[in-house]
Amino acid sequence: MASDRAVSDSLLISGAAEIVTVRGRGPRRGDALSEIGVIRDGAILVRDGVIAAVGPSRKIEKLKESKKAEKVDVGGRVVLPGFVDAHTHLIHAASRAEEYELKIRGASYEEIAREGGGILNSVKKLRAATAEELKKRARGFLEKFAEYGTTTIEAKSGYGLDVTSELRILSLHKELDAEQPLEIVSTFLGAHVVPAEFRGKTCGTQRYLELLTEELIPEVAENGLAEFCDVFCERGAFTRGESRRVLEAGKARGLAPRVHAEQLSNTGATRMGIELGAASCDHLEYLKAADIRALGKSKTVATLLPGCDFHLGLERYAAARELIEAGAIVALATDFNPGTSPTLSMAMILSLACSRLRMTPAEVIAAATINAAYSLGRMDRIGSIERGKQADLAVFEVADYREIPYYFGVNTCWMTIKRGEIVYLRD
Ligand SMILES: [Zn+2]
Repeated sequence: MASDRAVSDSLLISGAAEIVTVRGRGPRRGDALSEIGVIRDGAILVRDGVIAAVGPSRKIEKLKESKKAEKVDVGGRVVLPGFVDAHTHLIHAASRAEEYELKIRGASYEEIAREGGGILNSVKKLRAATAEELKKRARGFLEKFAEYGTTTIEAKSGYGLDVTSELRILSLHKELDAEQPLEIVSTFLGAHVVPAEFRGKTCGTQRYLELLTEELIPEVAENGLAEFCDVFCERGAFTRGESRRVLEAGKARGLAPRVHAEQLSNTGATRMGIELGAASCDHLEYLKAADIRALGKSKTVATLLPGCDFHLGLERYAAARELIEAGAIVALATDFNPGTSPTLSMAMILSLACSRLRMTPAEVIAAATINAAYSLGRMDRIGSIERGKQADLAVFEVADYREIPYYFGVNTCWMTIKRGEIVYLRD
């Protein structure tokens, strides 16, 4: 009866004004970033959660399997691959709206951090929260991610900064990945900042680095709690040398490096990340010309986070055009976090990337799907609408894909599909 089961598990998605497939080989660099393979009046046949066929409606609807499939007519809307948000700090205990107001009144991010605000503020709140509370909050956010068309997120620890709390966050990533439809890719960010109890002590930073490299990283790796290891390489966080030590320890245990690099100053983190074969260097507002050239020649993805600059009211954004022209693999992410980028709307990030990074609507879609999937080592399964890939789709209430970033701050997502299942449908 296997064949009968396969037929009943088929889904035909038809009536799309446009299907933005983002099909093609490899991550997108240079001019190829804007080749997004739009099919007008298209349909998609899904079998057992995997894309079986995609093409013009007249062709796909004629297939024998399509006739027996369950049907979803998207009524002239636009279908994209589900967004892949490759940089989030999903698990945190509370917002930092009070700091938002302080910043508006003139305090800088670094001044607030020196006063015990910023990341340390989130650490204090997270340690006081129960696992149940954290999980409930994260679940609410995951539902929102789905409502905005995101089907896969990377999630970082880094608001625990002690053994118990960091392991609790990473275990929650794993539990949430299993219990709800969106896919969660877990990253260990113990090297977010030095926690308060190690500050002002003799060799405090060194002792914290020992805790990370000798205790936490082995524990995380042995229990399969993360795929990646990240560091915040910045003034007031970790130096390039300290960051390298953490990333090398992670790499030795099978955790691939990612780096928070050149966000507020140029520390050389990008060059270090490239040398270590990092999957991604993120932020990149303070890149030097040589860093841009190096990214252009490397397999390390340049993940840009314009939501952060927007929320902090900064004038300086990453040099996206130069990166694209140099041939770098540019991705976009929300950097969803309570301090510097409290948004889970990838569409808003696309709007910012168009207006502030001067990327085109086609480029921002490729950056938020296939290139982000590449940075998470999942390009073979997600990030485009192609035969053999997971049916991770987002349907938007627009007739032209350019309207998705055009309507800034407006959620035009109408339906979200993860592995062939409808996980969100607007009422
Ligand atoms: Zn971040």
